[in-house]
Amino acid sequence: MLKPKLGPPAVGSPADVQRARLDAAVRNMAQGLCLFDADRRLVICNQQYVDIYELPSELAQPGTQHEDIVNYRLAHGMRWDGGAEAFIRRNDARLAGSEVGIEIVELSNGRVVQVRHQPISVGGWVATHTDITDLRNREKELSLQNLRFDAAINNMSQGLSMFDGERRLVVSNARFAEIYGLPSEMLVPGTSVDILTGFLKNAPRGDGANAAGTIRALAEGAARGAEVVETADNRIVSILNQAIADGGWVSTHEDVTEQRNREARIRHLAAHDALTDLPNRTQFQEHIVKLQDRIRLGEMVAVLCVDLDHFKTINDTLGHSVGDGVLKAAAARLLHCCRQTDLVARLGGDEFAILQAPTPNVDTAAALARRIVQAAAQPLEILGHRIVIGASVGVAVAPNDGCDADSLMKNADLALYRAKSEGRGTFHFYEHGMDIALQKRLALEMGLRVALAHNELSLVYQPLVNLADNRISSFEALLRWNHPERGPIPPSEFVPIAEETGQIVAIGEWVLREACTAAAAWPEHIRIAVNLSPRQFGNKGLVTIVESALAASGLNPRRLELEVTESLLLIDSGSTLQILHRLRELGVRISMDDFGTGYSSLSYLRSFPFDKLKIDRSFVAESLSNPESLAIVKAVIGLGRSLGMETTAEGVETEAQLELIHAQGATEAQGFLISVPLPANAVASLLEATGSRHKDRFFASGYSRTGEKAG
Ligand code: C2E
Ligand code: CA
Ligand code: CA
Repeated sequence: MLKPKLGPPAVGSPADVQRARLDAAVRNMAQGLCLFDADRRLVICNQQYVDIYELPSELAQPGTQHEDIVNYRLAHGMRWDGGAEAFIRRNDARLAGSEVGIEIVELSNGRVVQVRHQPISVGGWVATHTDITDLRNREKELSLQNLRFDAAINNMSQGLSMFDGERRLVVSNARFAEIYGLPSEMLVPGTSVDILTGFLKNAPRGDGANAAGTIRALAEGAARGAEVVETADNRIVSILNQAIADGGWVSTHEDVTEQRNREARIRHLAAHDALTDLPNRTQFQEHIVKLQDRIRLGEMVAVLCVDLDHFKTINDTLGHSVGDGVLKAAAARLLHCCRQTDLVARLGGDEFAILQAPTPNVDTAAALARRIVQAAAQPLEILGHRIVIGASVGVAVAPNDGCDADSLMKNADLALYRAKSEGRGTFHFYEHGMDIALQKRLALEMGLRVALAHNELSLVYQPLVNLADNRISSFEALLRWNHPERGPIPPSEFVPIAEETGQIVAIGEWVLREACTAAAAWPEHIRIAVNLSPRQFGNKGLVTIVESALAASGLNPRRLELEVTESLLLIDSGSTLQILHRLRELGVRISMDDFGTGYSSLSYLRSFPFDKLKIDRSFVAESLSNPESLAIVKAVIGLGRSLGMETTAEGVETEAQLELIHAQGATEAQGFLISVPLPANAVASLLEATGSRHKDRFFASGYSRTGEKAG
C-alpha cells in the first residue's frame, strides 16, 4: 500500500503530484478499490479493500498476482462454487466484453459485497467493492415488514382503507372489498374514491338507494369522523375515519350487523318471556308507568290478572313439556281475546296479566274478563292429551282501584284471589277490604300448617241411607277444623287452601287412617266414605297409603268408599286412571262425588267404572222448584241405572225431596233430613240405639249441622 504524502501542498514532478492525488482519492473512498494491470498484477488497492477481505498486508502490495489474491479469498470465506481458475476465467471473459460487470459476493462471515468491475482501456481493470450487508439487511427487514403488514391488514376483521390528499386509494384490505361488495380489481392503489362510490350507486348487490349513507361516508372521509351506515344489502357498518397529515384519511369499517342483532335480541329477551314471547313483568309494569300521567288525569285503564286453574296438577302429572304447551296455548288464547291496543304479559308460572288501555268503561273490562274465562274453558289438545283447563281473572280499574303500577297489580291480584276462592273459572273485580280478606287467608294458611300437629282437626260422620230397606249403609267422613282463636272453620273455607298449598296430602292421609280406624269398630255391613282431593293423586304413594290405612285398622277393603270429583279427570292422565284401577284392585269402592257440577262429561263416566254417582246437593235442593234441576236429577239416576252404578242424592233436606228421589229410583239418600254429620262417639250410640235402622229421622239428635253438640 502506498502512503500518500501529508502536509504542505505537494511539490515534485507532475506525475508525483498526480499520483499523490490519486492516492488520496483512493484512500478516502468509502468503498474498497483495487486496480490491476494487463498482466493481472495489483497496481493499487486501498485499506477498505484489504479490510473487506481481511487480506494479509503482503497480498496488498503492488505487483501481487490477482490469482494469489483470488486463492486467498477463496480459502478465506468467499462463496464461489468453482476453483480459482474458473473464477479467473470468468473474470477475463467479463473484461473482454469491456463492460461494467456487477456481481454480489457473499462472505462466510455473513457480509455481502457488491463488486463492480470496469476494464481499463490500457489493459487491466479497476474494481470497487461495496459492503452492502447493512443495506441488504434493511431491505430484507423491509420486505418482511411489508409481508407482515399485508398479512395484518388482510387478516383484520375490520375493513381498512386509506386515501391520500388527492382522494386516491393508498391501501385497502380484502375485508373492505367484501363489506361493500367492491370488486378487487377496483381496489388497486391510485383508484379515486369517486370511482368506488360511483360503483356503489349502481350496486349489483342489494339496493343502491340503501347505500346513500355509505356513499356519503366514503366520499367525505375524515370530515365525518365516526358514524354508522347501512349498506346496499342492509348490513350495518360502523366507520371510523381519521385524518392523516397529507390531507388524506384512513378508515376502519366494521360490520356490526350481527352485534346489533345480538343486542336487539338481548334487549328483547330482557323484556320478554322466553317460552311464550310475551312481554314480561318488568315490561308490563313499565307500560303502566308510561300511562300514569294519563291515569292521573282521569283516564280509565284496566289491569287483569289471569291465573290458569289446575295448571300445577297438569304440570306435575303430565310433565313439563305438556305444561309448556298449555302455557303457550293459553298465551295464544289470551292474545286472541284482546284488542291490538291491549298488552298481554306473562308474569311468571301460570300467571298472566293484561293491560287494557283505554278502558272506556267498567263493562269493557268485564267483557274482556268474561271472554278470557270462556276461552280458557275450551278443551285443549296438547301432545296427544285432551286437557280442560280454566282461568280465573281478577280485575282492577284505574283510577278508582289505584293509579300506579304497584297498587293496580296488587289489587288485581287480590281480586284474582277472590275469583279463585269462589271456585275458579270465574272473574272478580277488586273491592275495598279485599286485602283484609287476604290477610285472613294467609293467617289460615299459617294456622293449617300446625293444625294437624296441634290436634285441631277432627272428623264427623254423616250417614247415608239405603232407600230400598231404609237402613244406614254407610257414613261419609267430613273434616272439621277447630281453630284455637276463630273456632270451627268449615271445610269449604280451608280445604281449597290446603289443596293449593299441598297440605291436603298429609291431611288427607290422616283423614284416611282416622276414618278407617273409626269404621273398623262399626258393624260389618256399614261402610265408610272418604273424600279424596286431586292433589292426593299427584302423590305416587296414594295406593300405599290406602293399603296401609286398611292394614293398620284391619278394615275390610270392601267397606271403604273413596269419593273423587270430576276435576280429577279433567286431565286425561293415564296415571290417574291407573291409580284408580289399582285402588279398585285392593277391593276399595270408588264414587263420583258432586256429579253434575263440573263438566259432567259422559266420557268421564266411561273412562272408569265408578261404583256410585253422588248427585250434587244443588240439584236436589232445586229439584222441586226448578224443572232443569229435576231433569238433571232424573238424568243422573237414569244414567247410573244404565251404567250399573248406584246413585246417591246428596243434601236431602225435606220429605218431599226424599219422596221425589225415591220415586225416581235413586239408591241412597244423604242429607240433614236424615242426619247432620255426627262426631265419632255419637255414631256409635246412634248405631246401637237404632241398629242402623232409619225409622225416625236422626237430625233431632242434638247435633248442629256442622256436627257439634248443640247447646
Ligand atoms: P262434599 O263431599 O259434597 O260433602 C258433603 C257436604 O254437604 C258436607 O259439607 C255436608 O255437611 C253437607 N251436607 C250434607 N247434608 C246436607 C244438607 O242436607 N244440606 C246442606 N246444605 N248441606 C249438607 P261439609 O262438611 O261442609 O264439607 C264441604 C266439602 O268439603 C265437602 O263436600 C268436601 O268437598 C270437602 N271435604 C270435607 N271433608 C273432606 C276431606 O276429608 N277431604 C277432602 N278432600 N275434602 C273434604
Ligand atoms: Ca263427598
Ligand atoms: Ca258431594
